[in-house]
Amino acid sequence: MASSPIVRFAPSPTGFLHIGSARTALFNWLYAKHHNGKMLLRIEDTDRARSTPESVQTILEGMTWLGLDWEGDAISQFARFERHAEVARQMVANGTAYYCYASPQELEEMRAEQKAKGLPQRYDGRWRDRPAGDAPKDIKPVIRLKAPQSGETTVNDAVMGSITVQNAQLDDMVLLRADGTPTYMHAVVVDDHDMNITHVIRGDDHMTNTFRQVQIYKAMGWDIPIFAHMPMILGPDGAKLSKRHGSPAVSDYRERGYLPEAIRNYLLRLCWSHGDDEIISLEQAIAWFDFDGVGKSPARFDFVKLGSINAHYIKESDNRRLAGLAEPFIAKTLGQPLSMHQIDLLTRAMPDLKTRAQTIVELAEMAVFYFHTGPFTMDDKTKKLLTPEAMQHLKELAAQMEALADFTSENIESLFRAYAEATGLKLGALAQPLRAALTGSTVSPPIFGVAALLGKNEALKRIQACSDG
Ligand code: GLU
Repeated sequence: MASSPIVRFAPSPTGFLHIGSARTALFNWLYAKHHNGKMLLRIEDTDRARSTPESVQTILEGMTWLGLDWEGDAISQFARFERHAEVARQMVANGTAYYCYASPQELEEMRAEQKAKGLPQRYDGRWRDRPAGDAPKDIKPVIRLKAPQSGETTVNDAVMGSITVQNAQLDDMVLLRADGTPTYMHAVVVDDHDMNITHVIRGDDHMTNTFRQVQIYKAMGWDIPIFAHMPMILGPDGAKLSKRHGSPAVSDYRERGYLPEAIRNYLLRLCWSHGDDEIISLEQAIAWFDFDGVGKSPARFDFVKLGSINAHYIKESDNRRLAGLAEPFIAKTLGQPLSMHQIDLLTRAMPDLKTRAQTIVELAEMAVFYFHTGPFTMDDKTKKLLTPEAMQHLKELAAQMEALADFTSENIESLFRAYAEATGLKLGALAQPLRAALTGSTVSPPIFGVAALLGKNEALKRIQACSDG
């Protein structure tokens, strides 16, 4: 290709940023990066009843969170409606579109008749060739495309291959409504043309629209961009991905404790592959991404795989960053924000926590015990560990721990080992009650490290609280 590509992500701001749309955004972004091109962001807000500023905000936030930047300002499609109207009128002038004065009732009757006869329901072209003099004065017309009635329209899709439809199957669609607003089909073509879009990369639910859009390009004599339609993302059960499979909103993944780089990596693998690679860095993705890696069949969303990819990126993450991400979740459980000192402790606890969690939420749940005050509410399994005999040993161990000059994980462990040897007890028979006392649970990060992090005072206080209880 001579010039570098210009692509666009064109979401409709009628709700949240869907995870499937995020995949479309990612593929556009990677394509642009790989080819040293640009990605533009066009907000398709012509549907005034359903578009909201909150939704625009959610989309921008989701994109930013995923690290998918765009060139220049986001463009409002609605702001360009005069241009859309101008092109529609130009098409009337050049004979590729016409005014249609059919009333909604009339069109309804037409469709009812077609249905009764078992015919496909489509506009029958009743105003296609009528002279201007027939126009009723009191009706505002729509503008319809004078679509070719014979021949065929072929799209050479960069992913789906060459697909052809018979023009006879496509009716004269509306370009401009009676109130002067454009239809999606028309606005998208005018904008893609005016924005010099070279590649239209989107979900294959738009494939059937493409034939109609190609007819508009041809009617205007405009260059047709390259189309690349990505297969759909299905739920694990093979049905269209929806709320039933857990929320498809990008913001919910964030709230459920997924890292943006994990979502990005996971989305990349939906319908695109590079050998058997699963963990793919951003640099590799940019270097490798192209249409030849995109398959034609839909992908199934796999939450187990997403979990393991997220676990990988959590493990790789900087401890301070993870502490910052986990803090709001912990603060919510505690009912108050963590102090600087507590965040510092959380950061130091991270090496042992981050190897055990699939999400930041899990990480936070595992870390809450560090900041617990007062006696723990223990389940029966945990309580059972704190027998009178175990408590007796813990008390003696506590006295020895108190005497430790250096309260390190290694020193505490040596002390426990020596005690086990002297008493003939297994280390676990001492370490498990210690775990119960310090964490209120039977599972935790390595317990001597936990004790060291809590510090001598706090660790001894917790043991004491158990014997008091
Ligand atoms: N606004 C359309 C949508 O959100 C996308 C249009 C396009 O990519 O051509 O589905």
